[in-house]
Amino acid sequence: MTRTLIRDGYILTLNSRDEVFERGSVVVEDDTISFVGKTERIPEQLGSFEKVIDARGSVIMPGLIDTHVHLAQALLRGLVPDDVRLIDWLKDWVWPLQGSFDKEDGKVSAQLCMLEMLRTGTTCFVESLLHTRYGFDGIAEAALRSGMRAVLSKTVMDTPGYAGQKSIIHPTMVEDRDESLKEFKQMHDRWDGAGAGRIQVWLGPRTPGACSESLYRTVAQIAREHDTGVTMHLAEVKDDLQYFSSLKTSPGEFVKRMGLTGVRRVFAHCVWLPEEDMKLFAKTETSVAHCPSSNLKLGSGIAPVSEMLEQGVNVSLGCDGGPSNDDYDMIREVKLAALLQKGINLNPRALTTIGALKMATVNGAKAIGQEKEIGSVEVGKKADIIIVDLQKPHLHPKTNPASTLVYSATGADVRTVIIDGKLVVEDYRVLTLDEDAILRAASERAEKLVEKTGKKWQLVGS
Ligand SMILES: [Zn+2]
Repeated sequence: MTRTLIRDGYILTLNSRDEVFERGSVVVEDDTISFVGKTERIPEQLGSFEKVIDARGSVIMPGLIDTHVHLAQALLRGLVPDDVRLIDWLKDWVWPLQGSFDKEDGKVSAQLCMLEMLRTGTTCFVESLLHTRYGFDGIAEAALRSGMRAVLSKTVMDTPGYAGQKSIIHPTMVEDRDESLKEFKQMHDRWDGAGAGRIQVWLGPRTPGACSESLYRTVAQIAREHDTGVTMHLAEVKDDLQYFSSLKTSPGEFVKRMGLTGVRRVFAHCVWLPEEDMKLFAKTETSVAHCPSSNLKLGSGIAPVSEMLEQGVNVSLGCDGGPSNDDYDMIREVKLAALLQKGINLNPRALTTIGALKMATVNGAKAIGQEKEIGSVEVGKKADIIIVDLQKPHLHPKTNPASTLVYSATGADVRTVIIDGKLVVEDYRVLTLDEDAILRAASERAEKLVEKTGKKWQLVGS
């Protein structure tokens, strides 16, 4: 058995009692947490440790869980214009660019994204739309090697539309119903449960308009048969409501009718979710992935997060993609989520410091059905732990480390990351990925994409 001691940090457990320990220590035995508490209370019988990590001046907390990620968009950072609405942004830029990906582009983009996520304290993520052309096998292999926990969702679709707009999806991004379902099944057989359960394979049906009702019902049935999850974009922009009202329904009612509500059903955005749908999601334990940066940048709106939480909906957080955020830094996302709810509700208590942190940890764990295994620093849980270094001018004085973490830190302050008991980032260095090689490959691939598509956005004046 390998025994690791993380000692003398400020532990933010994010357990149900919101316990914190000053000068606290965590003991990890193999992949599991076996002690959390004050350093002087470490049981003597534990004896010696194979590894001791000094966490003085740092916060020790659960790894962050990003529940809405597009791995294939990391490569598009800076390639897509900043000031464009969602549909044009997809139609004119994102789809043609992603539609020119080959499998190597897909892998390099995923590796770049994972590198950033690890460096900024994300230990687990939900990728929502993996197209065949990105190369599922290469990406799953990369996720496995990275040491991360990953939910990889295979894109499923049968119509090239978005909401009421028909034939709008770029031809290179269109997949066939039977082929996409067949690939899901193959990938599920091959990868689900790999890496001692670190990898899950879910279904990622495209946004309403790109799937027929019969396909959604089939997706629901296959998810039940395979005991797996489903994730989808929903009610991201206001125009989506018109589409649902043309069907004489609401976003929540629609997905319920398709059989897509329930545990391990994660709907991204839900900026325009009516109150009745919130009640429905709460009752059915359906989760929402809130993506504040992306919603603001694309001018989509501000999701009613505090209302959803009040109604009992499980709301987690997501960074979305390279050109809509434009980072995969969950600590920055936590701050923005908290600030937005305070501001829009004219109430500083609308989303508390701890409440926002829970969205990025325990709520994320619940969204993927793993709240018993991950999401907090507790005895018996898997050791997915990050150490954030507060020994820096912008993080001083650290009288209240939790507050400083949310409002003053960024992901760049994450020093150490442990996933499933294994050291993955040590003193800011990712041990499982070759950072230099990935950065080099990403630059080359991005240049090739520009050559292939002729798409290169130039910054122009106002
Ligand atoms: Zn998205």
